[in-house]
Amino acid sequence: MGYIVAENVTKRYGDIHALKDVSFEIDEGEFVVILGQSGAGKSTLLRILNGLTTPTSGSVSIGGDTVSGRRNDVGMVFQQHYVIDQLSAYDNALTGALNRTSFLKSLFRMYDSADKREALRALETVGLLEEASQRVDHMSGGQQQRVGIARALVQKPQLLLADEPVASLDPGSAESVMGYIKTAAAERNLTTMASLHQVNLSRQFGERFLGMRDGELVFDGYIDDLTTDV
Ligand code: ADP
Ligand code: ADP
Repeated sequence: MGYIVAENVTKRYGDIHALKDVSFEIDEGEFVVILGQSGAGKSTLLRILNGLTTPTSGSVSIGGDTVSGRRNDVGMVFQQHYVIDQLSAYDNALTGALNRTSFLKSLFRMYDSADKREALRALETVGLLEEASQRVDHMSGGQQQRVGIARALVQKPQLLLADEPVASLDPGSAESVMGYIKTAAAERNLTTMASLHQVNLSRQFGERFLGMRDGELVFDGYIDDLTTDV
C-alpha cells in the first residue's frame, strides 16, 4: 500500500466542485509534481493532505494513519513564504522546531541544541549558511523562500508539501528554489508533492506527475508519459 493513499476525494465549496473524485497512491520517497492551471484544485488537494481543510467525501491516509495523526510529519511550503521579516534566517529556520518546544522556551528562543544544529543543517541544505544571521527582510524573494524551506525541514517532516512554491519568483530564482527543494528531498529521503503551473519547470524537476484540470485528476504518470497537453 502507498505511503499516501487518496480515495475518491471530493471537495465542494457550495456550488464549486474544487475536487472531483480524486484517487491516487504515492510511495515513500517519491517526488511528485502536481501540474495544473489556476483553479484546477491543486491548493485544495495540498490543503487536505496537511489537514488545513477536510474532504467533503472520500478519504486520505498518510503512512497508514489519518491526516490529523500525521500532522507533525508533514512540512509545508507556501507561495507566500510567511517568514518573519525582523528575524534572521537562522531564527526563522528555528521556528520549525516550535512543535517540539514549549511556549515559554520559544519566547526566550531557548531551543534545544539538537534543534539549533538542525536549523544550521537546514540552512546549509538551502545554501544559506553564510547568510544565517542576516535579517530576512534584507534578502531577495528567492532567498526568503529558501528560508521558508529551511523552516519546513527543521520540523523534520517525512512528507514535504509545497503549494506553488515558486509562483511569485522570477524564472531564475524559481529554478534555483526548485533545485533546493529537490536536493533537500533527496538528502532526507522525503516524500514530496509540489504544485506548479509551469510545464517547463515541471518537466525539469518532476519525476511523477499528477495533472489536474477543473478539479479532476486527468493525468497520473511519469516523465516519459507526459504529453504537451497536460
Ligand atoms: P491559487 O489560485 O494561487 O491557489 P487562490 O487565489 O485561488 O489561490 O486562493 C487563495 C485563497 O483563497 C485560498 O486559501 C483559497 O482557499 C481561497 N479561495 C479561493 N477561491 C475562493 C472562493 N471562490 N471563495 C472563497 N475563498 C476562496
Ligand atoms: P489551484 O490551487 O489549482 O489554483 P484551488 O484549489 O485554489 O486551485 O481552487 C480550486 C477551485 O476551488 C477554484 O474554483 C477556487 O476558486 C475554489 N476554492 C478554493 N478554495 C475555496 C474556498 N475556501 N471557498 C470557495 N471556493 C474555493
